[in-house]
Amino acid sequence: MDAGNLTGSCTYQIDAQDRIDYVGGDWVAFARANQAAASCFPDQVIGRPLWDFIDGMETRHLYHVVLKKVRSLQLAVKLPFRCDAPDRRRFLELLITPVSPDRLQFMSTLLREELRDPLAILLVDAQRSEELIKMCSMCKRIETPLDTCWSEVEEALAALAVFNADRVPQITHGICPDCLLQARKTLFDLPGKKP
Ligand SMILES: [Zn+2]
Repeated sequence: MDAGNLTGSCTYQIDAQDRIDYVGGDWVAFARANQAAASCFPDQVIGRPLWDFIDGMETRHLYHVVLKKVRSLQLAVKLPFRCDAPDRRRFLELLITPVSPDRLQFMSTLLREELRDPLAILLVDAQRSEELIKMCSMCKRIETPLDTCWSEVEEALAALAVFNADRVPQITHGICPDCLLQARKTLFDLPGKKP
């Protein structure tokens, strides 16, 4: 499949209990392009809680804060994020819109892509070591604990000296300080009561 053909948007909606009850747009194309597990295809997604698909405590917390804000203010929020494939950086925008008092729509739109040499660490079926590295759920950069900075995957792997390893590390997810600040600023700039 040529992931470069992705042009549209991927849409899903959640009900008052945060269960996904609608998926549309390029959802299937996105899932395929990202080598998503079978559990990410629409027939496996409908009826399941949104939280089944959000990995990492920090990421879940950020989503909880954002969703609460969108529901209480009934205002849309737009957040930049990355949804990389092994062979490309993919820059997207997530628009979270209130459809009714409790119902929310998520629409992710592809803004641009950059090709790169494929990265084994992003393959769904890669052989993994016991080592853990933390990736930001939003910008997909990786934390390098020694200098406590967040770098593009390629730079981080080189810095962590796992570039030529037979097995790639396992990925855990969090939110980097830059993305946290950006999300807080987005929420703070919304009209109405300040968080
Ligand atoms: Zn980030």
